[in-house]
Amino acid sequence: MSMPSFNVGILGATGAVGQTFIRLLEDHPWFTVTALAASERSAGKPYREAANWLSGKRMPDAVAELEVTTTEPSEMDCDFVFSGLSSSVAGDVEKAFAEAGFPVISNAKNYRMQEDVPLLIPEVNADHARLVENQDWGSDGFIVTNPNCSTVGLVCALRPLVDAFGVEKVQVTMLQALSGAGYPGVSSLDALGNVIPYIGGEEDKLATEPRKILGQLENGEIRPADMVVSAQCNRVPVRQGHLACISVACTEPVNVTDVTDALESYRSPLTSEDLPSVPDAFLRVMDEVDAPQPLRHVKNGNGMTVSIGRIQECPVNHVKFVALSHNTIRGAAGGAVLNAELLARDGYLSA
Ligand code: NAP
Repeated sequence: MSMPSFNVGILGATGAVGQTFIRLLEDHPWFTVTALAASERSAGKPYREAANWLSGKRMPDAVAELEVTTTEPSEMDCDFVFSGLSSSVAGDVEKAFAEAGFPVISNAKNYRMQEDVPLLIPEVNADHARLVENQDWGSDGFIVTNPNCSTVGLVCALRPLVDAFGVEKVQVTMLQALSGAGYPGVSSLDALGNVIPYIGGEEDKLATEPRKILGQLENGEIRPADMVVSAQCNRVPVRQGHLACISVACTEPVNVTDVTDALESYRSPLTSEDLPSVPDAFLRVMDEVDAPQPLRHVKNGNGMTVSIGRIQECPVNHVKFVALSHNTIRGAAGGAVLNAELLARDGYLSA
């Protein structure tokens, strides 16, 4: 597909998600990083000094000497911004960028549930992108969000089941990686050899975000999906990858074969010919008895594939299974890059 080249800014460029943006955008065919912003602590420094680079791979030369600015719209020379800002500042900063006319593609929680803001996973609810037409920031700017890093894996796994059978009840127990808390995140003395059965706000997000994402866009508004989600979230000593233990009750009785067939036969409506970051496999159903595991399988599809296994009958609901997703790629920066690609293809971004 022929596409103009877009100049891109990253808010929160020094953080765990910001760094993942930089890695994913290094050779991107449509997007070039031209502006980086973070807190006053980082502003004024070249990126190589401001960021505590977490990846084993070399920092891209193209960003190493870029000067990090403060998060002022007038400081950023670019066509649109990705935001990997802490939620404590994302609300005000993203609003200021939208008011200044920037499209903002955000990972932060602040606007996810606002009625006219798309909560987007392109393979699941691409039509919700149209909600940006309802936004009025007094400019051409708008905000698009991607879901919480735990919600993503759950919703991707539910999409085929909602389509095939309808889903009424979901129970999900999350085992969430340490990198989900950013850098430096959870203190090592709390994390090592431990499980923390509490992650602030996370259970509420899992109960509400899937209903919006799987909802129907009708007359310019989302009618939330008619399902209940009961979630429990635990921080576990894993570096990358959120594992969701999911049990579902469908609208009609289903068994393991029905669910396995629905998950295996589901094809994403988008391919990498449509958007460069779409993985070959949207879902990968694994039949090994002990799969998927974060250590071995989190990089399936370059971190964009959701891996599913352990599909079994559930004596409480109908069927249970596990789903693994990469929290900083599919659950954050990779998902946001895919959102930007969808918005570019559909004419919502201007170079
Ligand atoms: P992080 O590692 O703590 O990074 C936070 C970023 O925000 C840093 O670049 C930091 O800049 C910047 N920042 C903090 N205070 C600021 C201020 N007052 N003004 C301007 N910039 C400020 O966090 P993260 O894990 O990358 O998460 C970023 C966002 O993505 C959060 O909203 C998070 O909830 C969301 N998210 C994270 C994940 C994940 O798996 N980690 C997944 C999905 C969504 P300095 O370095 O200069 O302090």
